[in-house]
Amino acid sequence: MIRISDLEFTYREGTFRLRIPHLEIPEGSTSAFVGPSGSGKTTLLNLIAGIVLPKKGIVEMDGVEVSAMGDAQRRDYRITHIGLVFQEFELLEYLTVLDNILLPYRINTSLVLDREVQARATALAEQVGIADKLTRYPKKLSQGERQRVAVCRAVLPQPIMLLADEPTGNLDPVNKWRVLDILFDYAERSGTTLVAVTHDHEVLERFQRVLDFKDFQEYEDGEVPDPGAGRDIGDEAGAGGEVAGSGESGSMAP
Ligand code: ADP
Ligand code: MG
Repeated sequence: MIRISDLEFTYREGTFRLRIPHLEIPEGSTSAFVGPSGSGKTTLLNLIAGIVLPKKGIVEMDGVEVSAMGDAQRRDYRITHIGLVFQEFELLEYLTVLDNILLPYRINTSLVLDREVQARATALAEQVGIADKLTRYPKKLSQGERQRVAVCRAVLPQPIMLLADEPTGNLDPVNKWRVLDILFDYAERSGTTLVAVTHDHEVLERFQRVLDFKDFQEYEDGEVPDPGAGRDIGDEAGAGGEVAGSGESGSMAP
């Protein structure tokens, strides 16, 4: 469970300000972040992952206050608990596809790289259709292939939380569903909490809840609505398509 309270964040430069009075993301749930470009979706993922720290307020994960940890502790926590798929993938150009997928095991001594892990890495690569490219270097991959490598790398250490920043942004329909299947299958099988930023209305209905960042922006200087736990759309047929454009911030309010 992620719990955010009284959060305020600004970058050192610029005027962007993110305020979230209260947000809870239950353990094992699947949530989509939607909202205009620049509304703070990536920033919030980085706050949840402890990559950046709030100016004010608390970010808590499973009762652990991530925002109060020191740098080294936060980094260890992130590597062992969180699978990240970055918007820019962040592959290492001097490592092969396989070594990129295995990277968390190479940089963190608490993860043990054994045969079982190697086998899972290969199986994941097969599942997303890049098994024939394991010895290639990232610069010889298409954007979509790079993205699939990033997804395999995020899932391999079996994190308790998956944070994916526009994980299907560069993918054709076939690969889009392949990548989503991996993320959702993994989340379902292991009870992992999945949070993904997406602009793709077609995929929204697969998520149990949708959090629209538009609602944060509309209240810049006045009352900030309580986005609570986001909007549950699990049982509403076709709700996915409506959420982002509905403008009904009321249901996000207390
Ligand atoms: P989104 O992912 O929703 O498109 P971001 O979270 O990336 O939005 O960015 C939110 C706002 O913060 C934008 O206005 C962006 O320009 C600004 N921003 C992002 N990173 C930085 C940074 N390192 N320093 C200053 N401003 C930043
Ligand atoms: Mg972004």
